[in-house]
Amino acid sequence: MTLRNLSLFWAAVGAIAPIALPAEAVSLDFGETAVDEIYYLSKNLAGRSVGTDKEAETVDYLTGRLGELGYQPKLQSFSYDFRDESLTSYNIVAERTGRLNQQVIVGAHYDNAPSRPTLDRSNLQGTNDNASGAGVLLELAERLQPDPELTYQFVLFGAEEIGLVGSDYYADSLGRSGVKKTEFMVNLDSLIVGDRMYFNAGRGATENPGWFEYRDLALEIAAELDIEAYTNPGLNPNYPAGTGCCSDLESFDQLMPVLAAEATNWSIGELDGYTQTANPAVPGGATWHDPATDNLTFINRVFPGLIEERASNYVAVFDTLLSWVDDRYESVPEPTGMAGMLLAAGLGGWVSKRRRA
Ligand SMILES: [Zn+2]
Repeated sequence: MTLRNLSLFWAAVGAIAPIALPAEAVSLDFGETAVDEIYYLSKNLAGRSVGTDKEAETVDYLTGRLGELGYQPKLQSFSYDFRDESLTSYNIVAERTGRLNQQVIVGAHYDNAPSRPTLDRSNLQGTNDNASGAGVLLELAERLQPDPELTYQFVLFGAEEIGLVGSDYYADSLGRSGVKKTEFMVNLDSLIVGDRMYFNAGRGATENPGWFEYRDLALEIAAELDIEAYTNPGLNPNYPAGTGCCSDLESFDQLMPVLAAEATNWSIGELDGYTQTANPAVPGGATWHDPATDNLTFINRVFPGLIEERASNYVAVFDTLLSWVDDRYESVPEPTGMAGMLLAAGLGGWVSKRRRA
C-alpha cells in the first residue's frame, strides 16, 4: 500500500490532513522494552495463574513498572468463583489523560493458564501467551507522547484464561458513557509464536462494517513499514473473515471497534486460528498453555530471533497507529462551556456517523 492510498484513506474517514511517518517509525529499537519484559515475565513470573502467589507478584511487578513509566496505575479488583473457590483478582489500569475525553483502550492479559490435576503448569512461562502482549503494552505505554490529544487507558487484565473474567468486568465497568467515549479497543494476545502476524477486528464488525477501520489502518501501516501482516481469511464459517476471537477482545467486540493482534496461522489445522504453525518442530502445531513449549528456551531454539522480530514489528505498527490516530484530533476543540457542548455534540455526530458507516 502506498502513502497515497493512506492519504485517501484519511480523506475517506474525515481526517484533517495526511500524516507523514513520524521519524520514530524508522527507529531500530522498536521492541527493546517489550523484549526485556517478555524475558522478565517468562523467567521470574512463570506460573502466574489465578489464585497463585505468582499472580500476586505479577500484579505488583506490572503495577510498579507502569509507575516507573510515569503512570499512576490503579487496581480494579473483582471476585469470581473458580473450582468451588471464591477468588479475587485484579485488572491494572493506567491512564494517560489527554486534552479530550475520548479515549482508546489498550489491553493485554497478564495471567497464565492454570494447572489441572493432570497437568502441572506451575512452571508455565507463558512467553507467547501472554508475556508478549503485556510486554508490548508496556512499551506502547512508555512510547506514548506525554501530552496526547486523546485519553489512553492501558489495561492489564487478570483471569483471562478462565473465561475472560477480568476484561468482562472492566468492559461492564465502562458503562454507557465509557463505551460512548471509547474510540476503539486494542487487544494484544500471543504475539510471537505463529507463522504470520495478524490484525483482526472484533466480531461486531460483521454487523458494523465501519468497525473494520482500525484493522484496515493497522494493515496499511504494516505495509507502509514493510512488515508482512495478514487478517483472518475466514476459511472457517464459524470465524468470519477479518475478525479474531478467543481472547479479551470478546468482552468488547459488540460494544465498540476492536483491533486485535495475534501471531498464528488461520489457514491450517481446523482453520480456527488455534494451529499456530506448520513448523513440524512444534508438536501439534501449537504451544498454547504448554509448559514444555510456551517458554523462552523452546521458542528461541525453534524460532531464533522471532521474539525480537515480532515484538519490534507489533510495537512499530501500534506506536505508529496510535500517533496517527492521536494527530487526527489535533484541531478538534476541547469540549468546555456552552460552545464546547455544541462542539462536543457535533463531534459526537461525527463519531457515530463514522461508526455506522
Ligand atoms: Zn492469551
